[in-house]
Amino acid sequence: MRWSEYFIPTLREDPADAEVVSHKLLLRAGVVRQLAAGIYSLLPLGQRVALKVMQILREEMNGIGGQEFYLPALHPADVWKESGRWYAIGDDMFRLKDRKGAEMVLGMTHEEVFTTIARNEIRSYKQLPQVWYQIQVKFRDEARPKSGVMRVRHFIMKDAYSLDIDQVGLDRSFINQREAYKRIFSRCGLNFVVVEASSGAMGGSESQEFMVKSDAGEDMIATCTNCGYAANLEKATSCLPEIRDGVALGFPTEFPTPGVRTIADLEKFLEGVPGEQQIKTLVYVSTKDGKSRYLLVLLRGDHQLHETKLNDALAGLEVRPAHAEEIYDLLGANAGSLGAVGAKKKARESGKELAIVANLALRGRHNMTTGANVDDYHIRGVDLQRDISVDKWADLRAVNSGEGCPGCGQGTLELSKAVEIGHIFKLGTKYSESMGARVLTQDGKEVPIVMGCYGIGVERLIASAIELHHDDDGIIWPKTIAPFDVIVTVTNVKQEDLREAGEKLYRELQRAGLEVLLDDRDERAGVKFKDADLIGIPYRITIGKKISDGVVELFDRASRVSEDVKVKEVVERVQKLALAGL
Ligand code: ATP
Ligand code: MG
Repeated sequence: MRWSEYFIPTLREDPADAEVVSHKLLLRAGVVRQLAAGIYSLLPLGQRVALKVMQILREEMNGIGGQEFYLPALHPADVWKESGRWYAIGDDMFRLKDRKGAEMVLGMTHEEVFTTIARNEIRSYKQLPQVWYQIQVKFRDEARPKSGVMRVRHFIMKDAYSLDIDQVGLDRSFINQREAYKRIFSRCGLNFVVVEASSGAMGGSESQEFMVKSDAGEDMIATCTNCGYAANLEKATSCLPEIRDGVALGFPTEFPTPGVRTIADLEKFLEGVPGEQQIKTLVYVSTKDGKSRYLLVLLRGDHQLHETKLNDALAGLEVRPAHAEEIYDLLGANAGSLGAVGAKKKARESGKELAIVANLALRGRHNMTTGANVDDYHIRGVDLQRDISVDKWADLRAVNSGEGCPGCGQGTLELSKAVEIGHIFKLGTKYSESMGARVLTQDGKEVPIVMGCYGIGVERLIASAIELHHDDDGIIWPKTIAPFDVIVTVTNVKQEDLREAGEKLYRELQRAGLEVLLDDRDERAGVKFKDADLIGIPYRITIGKKISDGVVELFDRASRVSEDVKVKEVVERVQKLALAGL
């Protein structure tokens, strides 16, 4: 390609509304443009990068026996009703009607459509296993599209689905995918961590995410400094030092705590109660069929709730924090003086339903202090077992940096922000059961197909590569996904000999199988160098004055090292460099 004819609208200045680096550089380097909130066009450079990524995705999916499909993005609502997701998913789903008034969906993912194909066509264990995939656009009406193409409403996904006769088969398919994912991300130049993740409300048993540590990320992950333990914060656990509660008091005693509203207040009040000796009481509500059900969530005073863990513990029951009036109505006190002792009785008296879920770290504790459900009063001497009827014990808390690793018991946990670039998920029989995709086993028994699903977002992967690989001057594309292998910069196109040398080299590099961008624009050399740095092509060959001695400059974008190379040798040099691994 000749830059003079190619569309690369670079920008000198950082766009005002771009916050994360990848967003700024994607715009400045002329890779993408925004059409509307969370909707982006890939410009020619962007499309070249996306095609490179998709090629890697295809090779690795085909390598594990994947068969490529291309499914519709527009679906009848019926299949989503059958799976139940039409009802379970809220505003994230784009819904529309066709001219006859039939309800339609713009696909967020394709479990329903693949399952429809499977149930119509697959009858016997002999036709399994299958690995199906596609590279296709997904629509999600995200509440907060942000960070450029990291979280958008319209994006390309490689989504794969495995179909097996049993759990053993699924386990095998899952491992195949996981290994393929590792190869994909390594080939794309990404440093990543595989973490345990929550399976979420949609069922399934095991789920792992591929994470790139980056401040641009919206997730938090915990990794061990010693072993390979890594988990999303929504799933991470830790080893906590044991706490000795001392001699138990015979019964809970109320005491006045004027002005005490928070855990910290009580720590400082009179002789003080340390946070680890307090019970934190949070009130949540679920509303179904117009009826509210209340939930007290108990944690150690110095522990923080992780809401995803709460959702997981409630098996998908949707809850929200109670409003101040609801809390007062339920317990007769304001937040700051709440507690679970006697709370169920209180709720019953006012005709309300109340359940109690407590974090595991409270199990077996006594001599605890909590609110008395009377403003400005607390209770001490609380024994969890004796004084509170807990309905469910669950892991509810967010771990902190520096806590003990649950994997090896020796290392400590480190928390980092991270971007989720891929997600692999054991669906089990969720879709095959609800949509009736059944097959006959060898013994003639009818069983639901056991499924897994596996997704990678192309734009997010590209943005993550930039987050990891850039400098003050611009993008530094990993060679494997760079839009071009090499750029040939002619310092002054008005000079005949330079221009001719550029054209010649351009042809030779192309003949050697390289993808070449020839900067033949009538611009100052400084401008061209800046632009080349910005768009991040791995190698630049500069044709300047030394051409009269048969010498050009070879510049490595990543290391910024340049050297003089004989023009006769430069094609072979670049060919070797470009083809060498990352
Ligand atoms: P997130 O938690 O970030 O919303 P998700 O769990 O909804 O992601 P999946 O449904 O597992 O994501 O989708 C698979 C992959 O698709 C993700 O790992 C990510 O790479 C990509 N992806 C998901 N949502 C978006 C989005 N809104 N914009 C860009 N890429 C996305
Ligand atoms: Mg999502």
